[in-house]
Amino acid sequence: MKCVWFSFVVVWLFLTGCFQDRGNSNANDDVYDILNIYSDRHYPVDDTIYKMFENATGVKINLVKGKSEDLLARLQKESQATKADLLITADVGRLHQAKSAGFFQSVDISPALQYIPSYLYDEEGYWFGLTKRARVIVYAKERVEDYEIRDYEDLTHENWKGRIAVRSKENIYNQSLLASIIAANGEEEAINWVKGVVENMYQSPKGNDRDQVKAIFAGKADLAIINTYYLGQMHHSEDPLERKAAESVKVLYPNQLGRGAHINVSGAGVLKASKRKELAQQLIAFLLSPEIQELYAKENFEFPVHENVQTSQEVLSWGAFHEDQIELSKIGSLNATAIKVFDKGGWK
Ligand code: FE
Repeated sequence: MKCVWFSFVVVWLFLTGCFQDRGNSNANDDVYDILNIYSDRHYPVDDTIYKMFENATGVKINLVKGKSEDLLARLQKESQATKADLLITADVGRLHQAKSAGFFQSVDISPALQYIPSYLYDEEGYWFGLTKRARVIVYAKERVEDYEIRDYEDLTHENWKGRIAVRSKENIYNQSLLASIIAANGEEEAINWVKGVVENMYQSPKGNDRDQVKAIFAGKADLAIINTYYLGQMHHSEDPLERKAAESVKVLYPNQLGRGAHINVSGAGVLKASKRKELAQQLIAFLLSPEIQELYAKENFEFPVHENVQTSQEVLSWGAFHEDQIELSKIGSLNATAIKVFDKGGWK
């Protein structure tokens, strides 16, 4: 059945996009045969996926990778002269910033959204979630019992003094997590949460998510806040230290008796300046198709946004969970407040 669906997508891409655009373009092939993508996703699976799109459509993907803040600054500078057709980011906070800055145009890809829950994309069509990521707590198997912690809010308990590893306030994943706490508990409670977590950190925030897991393996910390796919990547790392570090921790999906674990998305939007709107829409539809959703899940341990696509067996082995289903656009709109709350609470 999946093969049939995939064949259908490929044929559809050819009929609606590739052939039609080429037919329209004539001497203007450079306008229609390349899609320029600015992306801050840094995962090898993306190269495989773009190659599949190129093979299916004959459209060349020109990928410009960079940090999301740099890509946004570049778009600001280039304005309408940008060659970029799409912006792909690893966090809804950045998607919201791009929408607010007026970089995106609204597009209608409703047929491709049939199996995508509505809280995972912008209702006005400016951006679309492509994969889900859960920002969770991991804990030292050897030193923490399962029953000792349950919710994000428990991280402020004095029992964890000097035992928490987490990255800085500059990190957009942390900003989105804090935005979800502000949405759930209000700004005052969120400031107290920040203060409490800061009290319990084993060191001033440094490093990336993998470094926090390594701190647990080294015995410097007992709890860390990370995105789950990094744990999958570490289990399969060529670096033995990363594999051992991943084996030393267990995943806790927080707030299971309440709002659920915090979910974020990697997502895409079509840039306002793009002259290849149709093709850009087709790429997003392709990325939302079941086959590609399965690749994101299997190869990069992310959660598919497509309702009928399974999470990878390995990720499922860490446990089932229910997710916070707050509208992600709300998380994006609370980004500026989250930055302010981090500052008030003293998170470096
Ligand atoms: Fe990441």
